Amino acid sequence: MFQARRYQYCPTCGGPTEYRVPADDNRERATCTVCGAIHYENPLNVVGTLPVYGEQVLLCKRAIEPRLGKWTLPAGFMELGETLAEGAARETQEEAGAEIELQNLYCVMNVVRVGQVHLFYRARLLSPRFDPGPETLEARLFHEHEIPWDEIAFHTVRDTLLRFFEDRHRGEGYPLHTADIG
Ligand SMILES: [Zn+2]
Repeated sequence: MFQARRYQYCPTCGGPTEYRVPADDNRERATCTVCGAIHYENPLNVVGTLPVYGEQVLLCKRAIEPRLGKWTLPAGFMELGETLAEGAARETQEEAGAEIELQNLYCVMNVVRVGQVHLFYRARLLSPRFDPGPETLEARLFHEHEIPWDEIAFHTVRDTLLRFFEDRHRGEGYPLHTADIG
């Protein structure tokens, strides 16, 4: 079973935590040894887009770890106070400075090993001009035959791109894909 163990110290009082099973629970939780607060850890959503301009897709070269220098779709952790769609649009703006029109939710992938769910929307790029943010070294468009498949940062990005090109070749639309990774 995946256990994140994000809390070595209590976010409430700063005291050290211990992982133990609380009464009436069935798994270990970060429990503060000072104030007794229990801190629950649940999967995080990573939201992003697959931006398309004509025949080309937008990829961003990462300026940060992990996978610095590898190519990814614009994506990142969802923030409190926003919807999935808002998060996907925000990440695309922040990482690529790309102007997009959001389309359908396209890929939902459980990455149980790291406690994440990755969600990608399709998006139409309104212009081929980008203004990459600090997390991106370079944002550029790729035709299918130019995709640097060996330099893709994340398994879920690679899968999303593969499904997109499959769907495009099939020519019957872009239905929602779901998958469990790893
Ligand atoms: Zn505490």
